[in-house]
Amino acid sequence: MSDTATTPNTVTFDQFGLHADILKAITEQGYTTPTPIQAKAIPVVLGGRDVMGAAQTGTGKTAGFALPIIQRLLPLANTSASPARHPVRALILTPTRELADQVAANVQSYAKHTALRSAVVFGGVDMNPQSAELRRGVEVLIATPGRLLDHVQQKTANLGQVQMLVLDEADRMLDMGFLPDLQRILNLLPSERQTLLFSATFSPEIKKLASTYLRNPQTIEVARSNSTATNVTQIVFEVAEGDKTGAVVQLIRERSLKQVIVFCNSKIGASRLARQLERDGVVATAIHGDRTQSERMQALDAFKRGEIEALVATDVAARGLDIAELPAVINFDLPFNAEDYVHRIGRTGRAGASGDALSLFSPNERKQLADIEKLIKRPLDVQRLAVDTPVRHHHDERGSRRDRDDRGSRRRTTGAHERPSHGAHHRQQPVDDFFLKPYEPSPSAVSASAKREEVPAAQQKPASKQPLAALLGGFGMPRKTTSSN
Ligand code: AMP
Repeated sequence: MSDTATTPNTVTFDQFGLHADILKAITEQGYTTPTPIQAKAIPVVLGGRDVMGAAQTGTGKTAGFALPIIQRLLPLANTSASPARHPVRALILTPTRELADQVAANVQSYAKHTALRSAVVFGGVDMNPQSAELRRGVEVLIATPGRLLDHVQQKTANLGQVQMLVLDEADRMLDMGFLPDLQRILNLLPSERQTLLFSATFSPEIKKLASTYLRNPQTIEVARSNSTATNVTQIVFEVAEGDKTGAVVQLIRERSLKQVIVFCNSKIGASRLARQLERDGVVATAIHGDRTQSERMQALDAFKRGEIEALVATDVAARGLDIAELPAVINFDLPFNAEDYVHRIGRTGRAGASGDALSLFSPNERKQLADIEKLIKRPLDVQRLAVDTPVRHHHDERGSRRDRDDRGSRRRTTGAHERPSHGAHHRQQPVDDFFLKPYEPSPSAVSASAKREEVPAAQQKPASKQPLAALLGGFGMPRKTTSSN
């Protein structure tokens, strides 16, 4: 299906033949040397070939695909006021709103000296400003799948002239049940196009997706899939479950961490931890599916400005966050899905910087730790952490169990391909709506697309799994549990 690119030696941005307007933007971004994924991907994308890129978060993969896309579209750039002269020519799909927003910011900055227009559309916010922007015409569109389909439905997005498609964090898009949406979108695109698929891991499902929709792709790998960033120091601290909050406070204080993302397995746990940290004098806020999109953006902006010390996040909410020079991440809970560990710790040590991934591990998380070590193919350094001033809130133990119940019940709700969570105490809990929908459409979107199903495949009734089964060859290939929240 593919061959693998050889590793180039020392490369500079000048050697790619990029237009001076792009090189100027790169310099203004402060990039001096291409990252390994950029060194490998840029020439291949410029050559017009499909790409299957295994690049973990923080490797600079966005510029790896965005720069050559801009270069390839430059001959079509124009300053005409006519929308017809600005059709969507490159489509970049991402699993989350935050990632879409960040990719769009990057594209915008790389293309700022050109006449190319870019826009981003994602759910949870008003459709009208997006529609207005799309009507004026954009060459590069960054989108989450659900909201893009709303715009297609409303005829504010026309994908008939797309020449280049990027599936960014494709593994996560499948995890989040976007496959039916992806298939609908792919059916709307010209078959004559260049397709670039980026994924942190190459699961059998991703390989199947690639073999279905990519043509003779070149495989580009900068790190073994499922490997963790080498510039991240990983330490696991063994603590009693009830001492975890105190441990987080202690790690933040002892290490003078000014900016840290703390990962929790559930939104309830994230909210509670943020409140407890605040009580203990750490400026903290939580981002998860119960917060509105604008609340999440505000929290993220405040965190980026350094006004918040600890951003307490669930996996989906934190997916794709790019915060420059994030010194550390803390895993308050070890994730149930080992791949989430790789994604989480990819938040730190980005683009060559070093970072610390500190994980709290309580005795009831042995299975998770073993799964992580199996995935990353090496044992983790486990240290005992003596917590000086344990912060014990009498709801802790009950709460942590409830969080796991929450997750267990959600897994049960989301379909037949699920397996029970390790050690989960199954108790019925209301289903978190956020996880049933990849986005919350605006009222206008709802009315426009009332006839179209909104719920991703992972959360639909058995019949809706048909496309997945069909795409995967109809062999009932086991599918990874939807695990992020
Ligand atoms: P990404 O993996 O695309 O999310 O990029 C991670 C971070 O690396 C972003 O903050 C980029 O701005 C930054 N970055 C990308 N390419 C380079 C480069 N060649 N030199 C320095 N930083 C870069």
